[in-house]
Amino acid sequence: MDETIGATLMTDLLETVAELTHLRNKDALETLFADAVYRLAGATRLVIWRLAGRGGEARLRARVSLPNGRGTGGMEMTLAERPEFRDCVEARKPVEVALSNQRQTRHIFPLCDERQVTGLLDLVMPKRLDVPQMGLVTGLMRVYGNHVGLLDYGHRDELTGLLNRRTFNTLFKEVAADEAERAVIALVDIDFFKRINDEYGHLYGDEVLILMARLLEASFAELGEMFRFGGEEFLILLRQESLESAWRALDMFRARIAEAVFPQVGRVTVSVGFGAVKLGDTGAVAFGRADEALYVAKQRGRNQVQCHEWLVMEGSLSEAKKTGGQVELF
Ligand code: GH3
Ligand code: MG
Ligand code: MG
Repeated sequence: MDETIGATLMTDLLETVAELTHLRNKDALETLFADAVYRLAGATRLVIWRLAGRGGEARLRARVSLPNGRGTGGMEMTLAERPEFRDCVEARKPVEVALSNQRQTRHIFPLCDERQVTGLLDLVMPKRLDVPQMGLVTGLMRVYGNHVGLLDYGHRDELTGLLNRRTFNTLFKEVAADEAERAVIALVDIDFFKRINDEYGHLYGDEVLILMARLLEASFAELGEMFRFGGEEFLILLRQESLESAWRALDMFRARIAEAVFPQVGRVTVSVGFGAVKLGDTGAVAFGRADEALYVAKQRGRNQVQCHEWLVMEGSLSEAKKTGGQVELF
């Protein structure tokens, strides 16, 4: 009897692995992974949480919740309010909690990329996972993690781990199609970065870039995507309802940088230019508007945020050039 069950499970498992490794879309991959663990481990409940922010500000937001599916009604909590989740993140180890109601057990597993814990797999099992089930879950997690890593490879900048410029082109098309008028594109450029390199050396310069990337993630991970665009330039695709709210978020970031103390280097400031993403924009056109606003920010003394649309309204910039995508910046 066991052999028949074993053979069926084996076939099911192989098919699942084949399907997982076939996918190229990370959302679809996450959904399939969740479904596979839920089904093959016989879980009562499964949630994949994504971790955003660090330290005391860290939050967990549900990405997939089974048996309900996606669109989890925005389940969200701070890491601080759930000690068992916090232990899992801090120790980077699975955590097991006996639930008082029945014989159910909660198993929490950290989901990691090369650098850090990015989320949690939260399983409620009718009873504690036995050894083969534990092997099944951790094995599926490894297949999932390896495949996500492979998809990320080539999409990320090696120094900072942020998305790279090439990835921007692909992602921008999706944003321009789905979220135009509800997104802005912002260009962040470190002020006088050349001086930092000259005074402290390239290695300290690199350290500033890495720290800057972490601060970008801490500020915007929940609001959009961040890219390293050139040497000391970063681009943010930000979901925002209005230019005012985008300005507030970006200016808060600017102030946060200006107040931070960078090891050895001390104070660093950034200038930011941004503009709305408009229907039919190409990446190059939207980027061009942010770049023009950035240029004004630099001219007006740096350490400030400028908005393309507002500069057009005040007459400092002209309306976007209708290039029809002829500008070849990429
Ligand atoms: P501004 O305020 O006008 O932006 O001045 P800036 O000095 O920041 O601008 P500029 O574009 O003249 O200098 C950018 C410098 O960034 C030049 C280059 O040496 C440095 N850079 C580019 N890539 C890297 C990198 O990967 N690591 C380090 N350490 N420096 C880099
Ligand atoms: Mg620059
Ligand atoms: Mg600069």
